[in-house]
Amino acid sequence: MSLNVEDLARANVRALTPYQSARRLGGNGDVWLNANEFPLPVPFELSQQTLNRYPECQPKQVIERYAAYAGLQPDQVLVSRGADEGIELLMRAFCEPGKDAILFCPPTYGMYSVSAETIGIEYRTVPALDNWQLNLPAIADKLDGVKLVYMCSPNNPTGNLINPDDIRQLLEMTAGKALLVADEAYIEFCPEATLAGWLKDYPHLVILRTLSKAFALAGLRCGFTLANKPVIDLLLKVIAPYPWQPQ
Ligand code: PMP
Repeated sequence: MSLNVEDLARANVRALTPYQSARRLGGNGDVWLNANEFPLPVPFELSQQTLNRYPECQPKQVIERYAAYAGLQPDQVLVSRGADEGIELLMRAFCEPGKDAILFCPPTYGMYSVSAETIGIEYRTVPALDNWQLNLPAIADKLDGVKLVYMCSPNNPTGNLINPDDIRQLLEMTAGKALLVADEAYIEFCPEATLAGWLKDYPHLVILRTLSKAFALAGLRCGFTLANKPVIDLLLKVIAPYPWQPQ
């Protein structure tokens, strides 16, 4: 009798190299550059001290206040366990495993591939150009069957912004075929570059945000997905019923 539970696991999970987070890699010292976190604690108090109840799935005040901060309507905001959960919810809502694909342009954030591999979705890569900008013709060549294009701006780890004219071209190219997911985890370091104002023109644009970076609240695990209501409504179908939220 084989007692090897590994044999029962999905082949893609057996083959998966998990995300090499700063905590998982370990190391010494107080400054964890590979986590991009603030080194000092910032004061934060929970207003709700009782933990016997499940939290609200989408706390009204958090949604309303973040919408006001982002210049959007509350129905254009979804709150999740970090932006990482937003990355994965989009794949679960829009990509059929074994059929659809995602695309991104390395070097960039490592969780796009880890989430795709975990779920069993093909990922295609189009390396960035020497100036770290998008290779639009190469992206156009690989778009067949792609449902989500992840674009990180400012990009992790290179720090550059993606040229807005190229983003517009990418939005034209993907219209009706795929969603363009703009990862704005670092947007507070150049707020004028946000694409939030573009949501009114592009139903297939999605923006990811987080409190982990500029707000120095990585331990809170609080991220946001910004999109038009039809996209948010689909994500609300697949999100966990009680994602931990500050109240
Ligand atoms: N996107 C990028 C580009 C990131 O660097 C990170 C955090 N390393 C995330 C998303 C995930 O952020 P969160 O802590 O909100 O899950």
